[in-house]
Amino acid sequence: MEKVTVIGAGLAGSEAALQIAEKGILVDLYEMRPKKETGAHKTDKFAEFVCSNSLGSYDISNASGLLKHEMQILGSKLMEAVFEAQVPAGGALAVDRELFSQIITEKINSNPNINVIREEVTDIDFTKPTIIASGPLTSELLSEKIKEFLGEEYLHFFDAIAPIVEKESVDFNKAFYLNRYNKGGADYINCPMNKAEYERFYEILINSPKIELKTFEKGAKFFESCLPIEVLASRGIDTLRFGPLKPIGLIDERTGAENYAVVQLRQDNKAASLYNLVGFQTNLKWSAQKELLKSIPGLENVNIVRYGVMHRNTFINSPKVLNPSLQCRKNPNIFFAGQITGTEGYTESIASGLLAGINISRYINGENPIELSSETMLGALTNYITFEGHKSFQPINSNWGILAEIQLDKQTRKNKKLKNEILAKRALDTIKSYKI
Ligand SMILES: Cc1cc2nc3c(=O)[nH]c(=O)nc-3n(C[C@H](O)[C@H](O)[C@H](O)COP(=O)(O)OP(=O)(O)OC[C@H]3O[C@@H](n4cnc5c(N)ncnc54)[C@H](O)[C@@H]3O)c2cc1C
Repeated sequence: MEKVTVIGAGLAGSEAALQIAEKGILVDLYEMRPKKETGAHKTDKFAEFVCSNSLGSYDISNASGLLKHEMQILGSKLMEAVFEAQVPAGGALAVDRELFSQIITEKINSNPNINVIREEVTDIDFTKPTIIASGPLTSELLSEKIKEFLGEEYLHFFDAIAPIVEKESVDFNKAFYLNRYNKGGADYINCPMNKAEYERFYEILINSPKIELKTFEKGAKFFESCLPIEVLASRGIDTLRFGPLKPIGLIDERTGAENYAVVQLRQDNKAASLYNLVGFQTNLKWSAQKELLKSIPGLENVNIVRYGVMHRNTFINSPKVLNPSLQCRKNPNIFFAGQITGTEGYTESIASGLLAGINISRYINGENPIELSSETMLGALTNYITFEGHKSFQPINSNWGILAEIQLDKQTRKNKKLKNEILAKRALDTIKSYKI
């Protein structure tokens, strides 16, 4: 009987291995800890939460909450253990992390279909069905192999993410659509600033607190073209006006002139509901990012769906290499799961392990892998990360902006909670309709 190899017994790999084993398929599960450490994990247990012990909201009107409900319907094994190890945390779902990892480690070790191999994988056998779930801190030797397989430009080692916002929350009394020099249409949203507004923005920026890099991240070099805005700003008050905030070629129709500075927003998803701030990658604390963005004309009431971050993160260029089923386009034996696919967060990592586990089992059984609809949060996530139209792909977590649009009257659209509940109901009905 054909065996599946799963590389990495973190959140995604553990979920995938348990899914596959449950279908009666044998699994070789490789985990390099404790022989080789990642620098962030503290134990030799499987499915370790490396930082916070919270998985975020369980509320169905929250994007991450909806994802959890979908995962339960799809039969997530790790979600079951989350409830066994749950500790009180208000509306959030938090766990006793030791107990959680202990439960998963025992489930895996006692599963007759799973053969645990405590070794670092340094090579990939492309002739065997394999899930690569080695996470954001994939070992160097394995990273090299993945790079060789996918091509150098398809593996990244650092997140340098600019905030992503919801278009619906942009004030178009101030912002306007225009491409620089009027080239090729009006794809960009422009938020113009006069001198006083720019100086205020600059003042907030240079005084904003930054997030400290972790020990294993120190010494990381950012590309010059990818420098955080706070680093650019520290070079002088006008550096940004001659860089990402340059107003040149953007004649404001309302004044017939160029503005003093312009923040540009670029379309981020197919549905054009999300936009990222061009050249705005940042390591500022999230509260500071919020204050900074709200100081930009047109973004006073902006809804930020993804904050900027800069941290070590190994991830592949999924839009170029993966299908929405998480199967590799280049070689159908290879699937990816977890943070390495470009989703972010504990819940998202478990969710992609779940989908990859279901799909590799289907593949082995001669069935077509499932591609979920963007009406569901998990489908929207996998469709987002494998959407070929990204200008520059950066990891994302679950959010309402990536879900397929729904037709609603103006009144309902304005009531965010009600709108989310309607979207959530549609998502759960759709998930239930899959025969898995
Ligand atoms: C420092 C840090 C803090 C984070 N904090 C949070 C947070 O608070 N909340 C949140 O939602 N998300 C957080 N994340 C993001 C993300 O949710 C977690 O990293 C999550 O654990 C990712 O799950 P995963 O299964 O993809 O990878 P992991 O859980 O890291 O699992 C990957 C496994 O693969 C193993 N491995 C790696 N290379 C090899 C190899 N060559 N051979 C065999 N095994 C290998 C590793 O040892 C590890 O056990 C954090 C990430 C980092 C790096």
